[in-house]
Amino acid sequence: MNDFYLAPGSPTDDSDYMVTATALEGKVRALAIRSTKLVSEALRIHKTSPVATAALGRFLTGTLFLADTLKSDGDSLTVNLRSDGPIQGITAVADSHGHVRGYCLEPVVETTYHRPGKLNVGAAVGNGKLTVVKDFGLKEPYIGQVELVSGEIAEDFTYYLASSEQTPSIVSLGVGLDSKGVTCAGGFMVQLLPGADEETISYLEERVSGGFPEVTFLLQEGMNPEKILDMFLGDKDICFLEGREVSYQCNCSRERMEKNLMAIGRKDLEELSLDPNGIDLECHFCDQKYHFSQEAVKALISDSSK
Ligand SMILES: [Zn+2]
Repeated sequence: MNDFYLAPGSPTDDSDYMVTATALEGKVRALAIRSTKLVSEALRIHKTSPVATAALGRFLTGTLFLADTLKSDGDSLTVNLRSDGPIQGITAVADSHGHVRGYCLEPVVETTYHRPGKLNVGAAVGNGKLTVVKDFGLKEPYIGQVELVSGEIAEDFTYYLASSEQTPSIVSLGVGLDSKGVTCAGGFMVQLLPGADEETISYLEERVSGGFPEVTFLLQEGMNPEKILDMFLGDKDICFLEGREVSYQCNCSRERMEKNLMAIGRKDLEELSLDPNGIDLECHFCDQKYHFSQEAVKALISDSSK
């Protein structure tokens, strides 16, 4: 058994982090995340009902997996889900530093179950589309879009990776909840690297279909991300590459809100400037409120005409 990679903090603590590994003779790349704290933070901010917390928590965790390929400062990855179910949509944005933020269009929806204790996320999400936008600071961002498969999020991310990025992957995501809030959240992702053979593929298929426990069960049993990958891959030569902290963070600011206001165009801004009370804006991602007085709005108009 390999020594576990020591991610930020000690392996016994309960911090949120993501670990990356290669295994099965370099034929697969594997990632695992514990995201309990960041999903709790999302619940605190958005006051989501249980099924929406599960959907958003899975979504935030999956977005961090996709964003693992971002390398530079300023790179960002946005995942947009738009659907016909009660949630209507989910948006998440991650950067290259393990920061993620997101929200559900409708945070409070009725909670239904597949079976006792198993939230029916797919029913809350419904049918729709998943769009991934990767912005590397180039002229054109990379955009990929797929239809939702089940609305259960992990299957939808798996389908996106296979069809849009041509990367066959296994994605497992989970959020555990009790009456007080989020008890655990996390997931793992295993991807075939070029050179993966039939033997590797059928080995992984067996692991998936062989009744591997749900990720929430493993987290609740106290397993950290390294241990989950160890168990899933069953490879004593697994090589852990890096660990990084992940967290819920919003990068909004008054300057950004000013830019957003100016982007609505002079005509609309002039209309808004008629209100003597000014404008109140609220960040979708963190609920931070920004007040612009009537004078401030007028100043923006004169700035925009410069
Ligand atoms: Zn914000």
